[in-house]
Amino acid sequence: MTSETSPNITKVAAFDDNYIWFIHGLSEKTSEKQIIIVDPGDAEPVIKSIIQNNYLPQAIFITHHHYDHTGGIKTLLDTYPIPVYGPAKEKIPHITHPLSEEHTISLSSMGLSFNIIDVPGHTIGHIAYFGHQSLFIGDTLFAGGCGRIFEGTAEQMHQSLSKLLNLDDETMVYCAHEYTQDNLKFAQRVEPDNEQLKDRIKDTTQLRLNNQATLPSTLKLEKQTNPFLRFDIDSVKSAAEIFAQKPLNTPAEVFRTVRYWKDTLD
Ligand code: ZN
Ligand code: FE
Repeated sequence: MTSETSPNITKVAAFDDNYIWFIHGLSEKTSEKQIIIVDPGDAEPVIKSIIQNNYLPQAIFITHHHYDHTGGIKTLLDTYPIPVYGPAKEKIPHITHPLSEEHTISLSSMGLSFNIIDVPGHTIGHIAYFGHQSLFIGDTLFAGGCGRIFEGTAEQMHQSLSKLLNLDDETMVYCAHEYTQDNLKFAQRVEPDNEQLKDRIKDTTQLRLNNQATLPSTLKLEKQTNPFLRFDIDSVKSAAEIFAQKPLNTPAEVFRTVRYWKDTLD
């Protein structure tokens, strides 16, 4: 995919640590003012940005049902009657286009299309949107971490994250929360000798000192430093075995143990 087919992606912050991403129309196709709004938990900062920038909302993408991702839908629809895409397996009011893995969606007027990936675990119907080398992953994968397993099983979450490992290294990862600094503290407990992780912690500390977002991330960086994607790596396996005080025989067991380990600290 060439760079001119990459849409511009901007964001607004919401609540304490949510990001609401805006995917802009491809400029050669249409106005870059056209936007898709991803996971609008709160309408207020979204509407403010739309008015300030003269954006033209075209659609809403929802990854899962949690309120901090859906709470702004109704208010946005009152002003902008646009389609709402979201997971078929979750009950979310106002969804007009229920989606699951077999779906590809095209917003042809914006020059954009996305494949849907089922990523259950955090919630049972959680979906991700993947297109134009960009992954909108909600609360499944975070920079340096992964979502808590509220509804699914560790096995499901492991499978969901395994699917992401098949995507291109250059994929830009758009997560829904600024949790990176905390996540990397845990990552360092798991892999104290990971040099790429050390560098990432330095970079992240600097960004946060300057009040800047640590997102988007890249899949490459996640593969190098995120313990929740490194269930196949020896250093992560042995750290998890020391925590569990027993041998772990499969990558899924390693994943489950690392997730449990972090849960005991949060
Ligand atoms: Zn959530
Ligand atoms: Fe969330």
